[in-house]
Amino acid sequence: MEENLPGVIVIGAGAAGAAVSYGLAKSGISVICLEQGDYTNPSIYPSTEIGWEKYKFSAFNSDPNVRMGKADYPINNANSPISVANFNAVGGSTILFSGHYPRLHPSDLRSYSLDGVACDWPISYEELEIYYNRNQENVAVAGLAGDPSYPPIKNLLPPVPMGKMGQVLAEGFNKKGWHWWPAYSAIATRDFHSQNKCINLGPCNLGCPQGAKSSADVTYWPKAIKLGAKLLTNCRVSEIVAPNPHEVTGVKYFINGEEKFLACKIVVLACNGVGTPRILLNSKSKFAPKGLANSSGLIGKNLMFHPLAYVEGEFPEGLDSNLGPQGCSISSQEFYESDPSRGFVRGYTMQVLRGPSPIEYIIGNIRRKSLRWGKTQIEEFLSKYNKTAHISIICEDLPDPSNFVDLDPTQTDSDGIPAPRINYKLSENSKKMLAHGIRRAEEVMTSAGATKTFSFGPVRDTGWHLMGTARMGSDPQNSVVNEWGQSHDISNLFIADSSIFVTSGGVNPAATIQALALKVSDGVIEYLRGNMPHVRAVR
Ligand SMILES: Cc1cc2nc3c(=O)[nH]c(=O)nc-3n(C[C@H](O)[C@H](O)[C@H](O)COP(=O)(O)OP(=O)(O)OC[C@H]3O[C@@H](n4cnc5c(N)ncnc54)[C@H](O)[C@@H]3O)c2cc1C
Ligand code: SF4
Repeated sequence: MEENLPGVIVIGAGAAGAAVSYGLAKSGISVICLEQGDYTNPSIYPSTEIGWEKYKFSAFNSDPNVRMGKADYPINNANSPISVANFNAVGGSTILFSGHYPRLHPSDLRSYSLDGVACDWPISYEELEIYYNRNQENVAVAGLAGDPSYPPIKNLLPPVPMGKMGQVLAEGFNKKGWHWWPAYSAIATRDFHSQNKCINLGPCNLGCPQGAKSSADVTYWPKAIKLGAKLLTNCRVSEIVAPNPHEVTGVKYFINGEEKFLACKIVVLACNGVGTPRILLNSKSKFAPKGLANSSGLIGKNLMFHPLAYVEGEFPEGLDSNLGPQGCSISSQEFYESDPSRGFVRGYTMQVLRGPSPIEYIIGNIRRKSLRWGKTQIEEFLSKYNKTAHISIICEDLPDPSNFVDLDPTQTDSDGIPAPRINYKLSENSKKMLAHGIRRAEEVMTSAGATKTFSFGPVRDTGWHLMGTARMGSDPQNSVVNEWGQSHDISNLFIADSSIFVTSGGVNPAATIQALALKVSDGVIEYLRGNMPHVRAVR
């Protein structure tokens, strides 16, 4: 224990905020996290109720503009074909996340060296691997060792059952001779620390009442709080206060509509790839007219999603496709690494998803006219439901400064803080990649025995991976933070969320977010020990 170390404020209690708070509390550092949302109560999550599906369209929708809850802030998505998805509560977006938990590939950190695109990360896979492994001490991760797509990954819990649908599609991949592997899933497939074993209920995207899904409220927060971290809920930060160009001294936040100030020695931002640039851009002063920590002009720039396509196959036999953890079955990384003959750079993951819930299925099929209203609807539904298989294509998105988050000139949240505005276009590279992925997934469906396929993409409401808006690097003119998440401009300001990603990879980001957040907590600790660049302020 290191005593009398000065206090750190962490903003945001999601995947990154929980991991960074835990890392700091474990080293005896006094840490307070301010979170705009509240605790959720797993014992009353929607799937514990008969009419559970209705919450998908209201309080548990992944679009904050639909939920419009007390903790939510509006997001202007009008200038983007993909709209932002999130959740604002203790645990952040991991309350809703599917639990896909793959790591980046070593090549993802070197796309400039390998393919001449984007930038290399200032860290190697080997450096990140230390933190991936450390993260797995606290987060239940299921999977299977020996995947030829990755360097060895240890300490995995038994994989999530593939289910009949997974087996049928695995056979389809085998016939093509293409890679597939049980999905890496942040799900406890046996009891793990305080997490109960998954009981395959299904609707993981409405919160896991069993506590099996490794959302940050069940993994890091109980431990962090036990170690002394303080978590203040319903506190929305509007601004970080910087009285001179090189130092922050605290934050302004709203609680019950009243503005307050909290002083600290260090601020760590963990509000995700949209919430973090929003606060920095709103923290303008005479020293920082373009927003805080923004001498590079890159705050908000280079926004990356993972453009996503969806391919469904209809099969003659029942596949039990709605049984088991919703998102996680098997994945293929056959087309992950660059191959110039495909006409695009970098690649994608194919993820096999379980089937939609009944109401979702009916709404979707009525929209595309494959199910009719009327007396025969139930019969038709029963003859088709659970006979479908699903593959999503998750494309690597490359950084492009013309894709960016800025502040909406008119819209605000309930505390009057400007809303973020998304400005995003799909690149030609992503369009080609999506089209390639759709064709390959259709081939898998057909070789697995599908009689019909249905495909579309990019899917609009899938902007749940928010990356790149305050990227890391060693050159202060071309990046916002260094490899420890420390701002180049302001040495006692750190960023711990996926804003700091340099590239997006073609995999879901949560494993990398939490690994990096542990690295950022080490950076803060080293800063406090005097081993990192220090405040240059003239006092
Ligand atoms: C439906 C859905 C499915 C997903 N599935 C997967 C998946 O399978 N695998 C995967 O890797 N990822 C998935 N994701 C994405 C993943 O959940 C996020 O990438 C991850 O949670 C981001 O972590 P974070 O800490 O950066 O942000 P978040 O987890 O979003 O947490 C940010 C927190 O900051 C708080 N905050 C924001 N602004 C303020 C403010 N001004 N003041 C105070 N608090 C603030 C928010 O309330 C929130 O709690 C999914 C997301 C959704 C919505
Ligand atoms: S399937 Fe498993 S992880 Fe998903 S909600 Fe049910 S118990 Fe939780």
